[in-house]
Amino acid sequence: MEIAITKTEHPKPHPNSEKLHFGTIFTDHMFNMDYSVEKGWHHPRIEPLTAIEMHPSTMVLHYGQAIFEGLKAFRTDRGQIQLFRPEENFKRFNTSARALCIPEFDKTFALHALKELINIERDWVPGSSGTSLYIRPTIIAMDPFLGVRASHTYRFFIILCPVGAYYAEGFNPVKIWVTRNHVRAVRGGVGNVKTAGNYAASLFAGEEAHKQGYTQVLWLDGVEQKYVEEVGSMNIFFVIDDELITPMLTGSILPGITRDSVLKLAKQWGMKCIERRISIDEVMEASSSGRLQEIFGSGTAAVISPVGELRYDDNVIKIGSGLAGPIANKMFNAITDIQYGKIKDTMGWTMTV
Ligand SMILES: *Cc1c(COP(=O)(O)O)cnc(C)c1O
Repeated sequence: MEIAITKTEHPKPHPNSEKLHFGTIFTDHMFNMDYSVEKGWHHPRIEPLTAIEMHPSTMVLHYGQAIFEGLKAFRTDRGQIQLFRPEENFKRFNTSARALCIPEFDKTFALHALKELINIERDWVPGSSGTSLYIRPTIIAMDPFLGVRASHTYRFFIILCPVGAYYAEGFNPVKIWVTRNHVRAVRGGVGNVKTAGNYAASLFAGEEAHKQGYTQVLWLDGVEQKYVEEVGSMNIFFVIDDELITPMLTGSILPGITRDSVLKLAKQWGMKCIERRISIDEVMEASSSGRLQEIFGSGTAAVISPVGELRYDDNVIKIGSGLAGPIANKMFNAITDIQYGKIKDTMGWTMTV
């Protein structure tokens, strides 16, 4: 398929890369592609970023048939632009599509389209330390219809945002709150799918955590409310007795690409790594017996997010000294050094645009 390219006649000024936030500024162009039963995925195009006009009955607005991805492009010191494990994102995007009855797309073509788009927006990739270009591929159901079924038409789009350094104020630990009243997902549901509804379902507990002075929610499993699943919209890791432990992928946990990268690096460093179920009681016990060394989250936005305090009912535990632990620190540096091309990428995780 040939990608039709229409360039904007009104390019916007680029923001000061020292003053960037997350998700507020968008580049000049977007990628669009449509699906219909007759034509399949068709009409791929890069064009000026514009609003999507839709009928009020458009299915995505009512039944949430929407999936998305999140990845980043980085500018290296030599001025090259590189993506981090982008094939993994498009692979997961197709897995999400299958789970929500959305027709799959050609992964190779989608990656090619993304590279074309970034190539056109090269100058939008910020260069200050810790900044990047955040990439949001999305697919939404487009039928104007109020009946409940899978849509027959879809829109695939990619939008881009220059984003600031996540840790502009330092790599500081966050406080997390274990919720007992809410669950994020259940096995057999869509917890392992990057779909819009999971986020809508997480908001209420998130607000409650904020009211109590906590940054993120630590989710327990939806069946027994006993086993740890994720933190906010990140995967979670524990260091107990020098062993790196993360919840195994049971179907209700999002298979994070950062999670996978953390496991692969830790194994390479010779750390003992284990994916298994870990109960909140075990975490509390490890803390009281002095064996809990670190807790940190992993995800594309923050890469690594150290946890300094955890509250479970009326029990509050402190983890570490108030600063990020040594494993969190080493992991953050190792991953970002690869992303920004500061060290040789022996893992084969980066792709130059
Ligand atoms: C995207 C996401 C993650 C992290 O995945 P990465 O591929 O590492 O960015 C973790 N949990 C949830 C719920 C997510 O949506």
